[in-house]
Amino acid sequence: MLFGALEAGGTKMVLAIGNENGEILEQVSIPTETPSITIPKIIEYYKGKEIAALGIGSFGPIDLDKKSKTYGYITSTPKLAWANYDLVGNIKKELPLPIGFDTDVNGSALGEATWGITKDVESSIYITIGTGVGIGVYLNGGLLHGMLHPEAGHVLLSKHPDDKFEGVCPYHPNCLEGLASGPSIEKRWGKKAIDLKDNQKVWEIEAYYIAQALVGYILTLSPHRIVLGGGVMHQEQLFPLIRSKVTELLNGYVRTSQINDMEHYIVPAALNDNQGIMGCIQLAKMELQNK
Ligand code: ADP
Ligand code: ZN
Repeated sequence: MLFGALEAGGTKMVLAIGNENGEILEQVSIPTETPSITIPKIIEYYKGKEIAALGIGSFGPIDLDKKSKTYGYITSTPKLAWANYDLVGNIKKELPLPIGFDTDVNGSALGEATWGITKDVESSIYITIGTGVGIGVYLNGGLLHGMLHPEAGHVLLSKHPDDKFEGVCPYHPNCLEGLASGPSIEKRWGKKAIDLKDNQKVWEIEAYYIAQALVGYILTLSPHRIVLGGGVMHQEQLFPLIRSKVTELLNGYVRTSQINDMEHYIVPAALNDNQGIMGCIQLAKMELQNK
């Protein structure tokens, strides 16, 4: 059986066809322009491909409340051409299929939980540290939405004592995304993150912020495992720094076998940067099953 998968990002759209085992059979990527340019290209791609359902993981904020009049919309995004845009509705008009819809990061959390590094546990979180910071939450075998959906990239943090940088988030002077995203590293240090590999201070500060946020997620969500992905996490030296800072900040308060085995508790994404699109295949599958 074939499924369509769409990872809708603010800069690019990834379109794929996969099967029920999460295998990606074909994939293309197109730039995210305006809906009037991009949506017809998306419809064109899936038409005639004989997919049974489509799964969409989208940038947001988005409306996931099936009882809401604006379910399936991208809501208050700063990408103005896409603000208050009926993404699911406009696709469904041309492709009358079951369409699963969730945040891009919930999609990644689901991809890892279905086929990747967290497939053996009931609860996990997926954090992307890239252009933005986002958190997907897979809890007790399902994705967490709550009132809106988690926006845990914007949790507020204590500043590192040596960090005078004001952050890049227009809303918060001291949130995780503002202080630890790829663009924040670049602005703080005046160089691309990838060119700062040998500067230890960069990664000490970065790990300090990521670890603080993880401690908050551990204490509130109690995940069995934490997956860290996104461009910045390609700096593998961050992992030991984050693990030891998390242990230090928890200070012995949470004692579980998982916490005592940090190397298998805080782990890199395992699906070769395909966790998002594979999660969209699973969103499509689930939507078809629920129908
Ligand atoms: P996006 O978040 O836009 O989907 P990425 O997850 O690739 O895409 O994140 C892009 C950000 O990650 C950029 O700010 C870039 O500087 C940073 N980045 C990408 N690759 C690396 C790397 N190898 N090391 C450090 N930072 C990186
Ligand atoms: Zn913020």
